[in-house]
Amino acid sequence: MSYIAPVKDMLFAMNELAGLQEIATLPGNEEVSSDLVEAILDEAGKFAGEVLAPINAPGDRQGNRWKDGVVSTADGFKEAYAAFCETGWNGMPASTEFGGQGLPVSVSTAVLEMWKSANMSFSLCQMLTLGAVEAIAHHGADTLKQTYLPKMVSGLWTGTMNLTEPQAGSDLAAVRTRAEPRGDGSYAITGTKIFITWGEHDMAENIVHLVLARLPDAPAGVKGISLFIAPKFLVNADGSLGERNDLVCASIEHKMGIHASATAVMSFGDKGGATGYLVGEPNRGLEYMFTMMNHARLNVGLEGVAISERAYQQALGYARERVQGKIIGDKSGDKKPILHHPDVRRMLMDMKSRTEASRAIAYYVAGCMDRAKSSPDADVRKANQTRLELLTPVVKGWCTETAQGVTWNGIQVHGGMGFIEETGACQHMRDARITTIYEGTTAIQANDLIGRKTAKEGGISMKVLLADIAETAAALRGSDNPDLKVLADGLGNGIAALDEATAWLLANYDATPQAAAAGSVPFLKLTGTVVGGWLMARAAQIAAGRVDGADGDFYKAKLVTARYFALHVLPEANAYRDAIVNGAEAVLALDEALF
Ligand SMILES: Cc1cc2nc3c(=O)[nH]c(=O)nc-3n(C[C@H](O)[C@H](O)[C@H](O)COP(=O)(O)OP(=O)(O)OC[C@H]3O[C@@H](n4cnc5c(N)ncnc54)[C@H](O)[C@@H]3O)c2cc1C
Repeated sequence: MSYIAPVKDMLFAMNELAGLQEIATLPGNEEVSSDLVEAILDEAGKFAGEVLAPINAPGDRQGNRWKDGVVSTADGFKEAYAAFCETGWNGMPASTEFGGQGLPVSVSTAVLEMWKSANMSFSLCQMLTLGAVEAIAHHGADTLKQTYLPKMVSGLWTGTMNLTEPQAGSDLAAVRTRAEPRGDGSYAITGTKIFITWGEHDMAENIVHLVLARLPDAPAGVKGISLFIAPKFLVNADGSLGERNDLVCASIEHKMGIHASATAVMSFGDKGGATGYLVGEPNRGLEYMFTMMNHARLNVGLEGVAISERAYQQALGYARERVQGKIIGDKSGDKKPILHHPDVRRMLMDMKSRTEASRAIAYYVAGCMDRAKSSPDADVRKANQTRLELLTPVVKGWCTETAQGVTWNGIQVHGGMGFIEETGACQHMRDARITTIYEGTTAIQANDLIGRKTAKEGGISMKVLLADIAETAAALRGSDNPDLKVLADGLGNGIAALDEATAWLLANYDATPQAAAAGSVPFLKLTGTVVGGWLMARAAQIAAGRVDGADGDFYKAKLVTARYFALHVLPEANAYRDAIVNGAEAVLALDEALF
């Protein structure tokens, strides 16, 4: 099944929920016009559909091959990557200073969604490279920036993030990789990193590894971790490639999904020490990683949106074609495509509404990011930064958890054919599965949401968010349009549930931290559900005024999708609230021996 970029829905989310027209007026965005944005999305949609999507399933079947430290990518990936870089897509989201196009995050978000939908394995290479670019751009010395960034932005060199070690996953305080100063400004790095995405491959001439490691005198724990650049090939003073660095891909993993992206075990310093260069100041590596975490987490959340969209398109295509049985209550007695069976429609509505709600949250937060960066008004910058920080774990956690259910339903819509690999629905479910794990598991996102983002600041950001949502609910309740009024109760219940759960959290976080943590993931899901319902309602408010104009069917569909979300998804808020407020004891009561 091919992929068709949902450009109209992306533009809607971008314009109406992220607020692109206003963002385009902010300093630095002067060249962003609606014509330009539409042209970018159309071109990106073509590249995604014509170049990346066709190599997705073959890449999944073939995977990567490892031999003696060398990784060969699946057929077609090298050529696709060369075309991707040549057409400027690789660096598009990066700053103009190093050769990118410096577009607002709201715009690059849509383009990145397309790459992720079309071919998640392929898209990871750019994602990791741009993550490394951001870390170096924010914290590296000028010489490092000049040496590495233009080539990474153009895609000539790719980047990786080497955080994880066998004993250090969620808990990076346990990192053991060592960096010894050599006295010439460089460091000798020794250690093993695991699960390194695109850690080795044959698509680019050099790979720039960002590595977390400890200096000899470093304090224990997270305050003793520094960040280093260790390139696969050392770089000569004139920028040309020098000798091979002392680092090697020891093996690659056999995985459940994203088969075409190599997940590497990286061994540093087998011959005495890989040459590394310190980024920024010693012992601040983890802090540096966290400054770029917002972006990386939003990008993985966007993978959830993208894979949901792909699974929905696949299921819808099948449901339109597969004829099976007569339709209950249909007097014609004809056999019709399964799309006519009410339960298949329910599954498709569920997939569609949850996908649109995920997109709404991800794009809304991208808009916050743009305003937090570029608004000339300090209060606006601060308010948007606060909202961005509050909702970043929600985008990461909720959009990726949502993708599990959406891709699962995608298989169910296909019946038995869904279980057969050739159909393609399985790949989406397998690819989606990693998104709730890497870049911090859902539990790690939830810890951040209940702790740093809510309880530790007295719940102020959450209360401001709830007040904004309540304003929308009041407008729905007061509306004389039945399509909007019908949304009011669901959103009202959601607000009450989140309000109650927040009050409980604030009262219990310090006194009974384990009870609070027992409800952390339900709290994240509750927040995502209510914010999703809010943005679906806001979309419906806009759509209600446009159903009689051009594109009336698109807006009618928005109203129905919002109604489905309000009546089928928002009621889940009550269950999450109950689990948080009443359920902690049941999580914690069982003696360990009784498990
Ligand atoms: C395909 C793939 C690609 C990856 N790419 C990269 C990469 O490019 N670079 C890189 O550095 N790493 C990468 N990773 C590693 C990834 O980020 C980690 O796997 C992830 O952070 C989880 O760590 P872990 O696997 O050690 O699980 P663990 O930390 O052992 O977690 C196991 C379980 O315990 C839970 N848990 C752990 N701590 C807590 C806590 N404090 N509170 C509540 N629950 C907790 C987790 O939620 C999880 O359910 C990748 C992993 C995979 C599988």
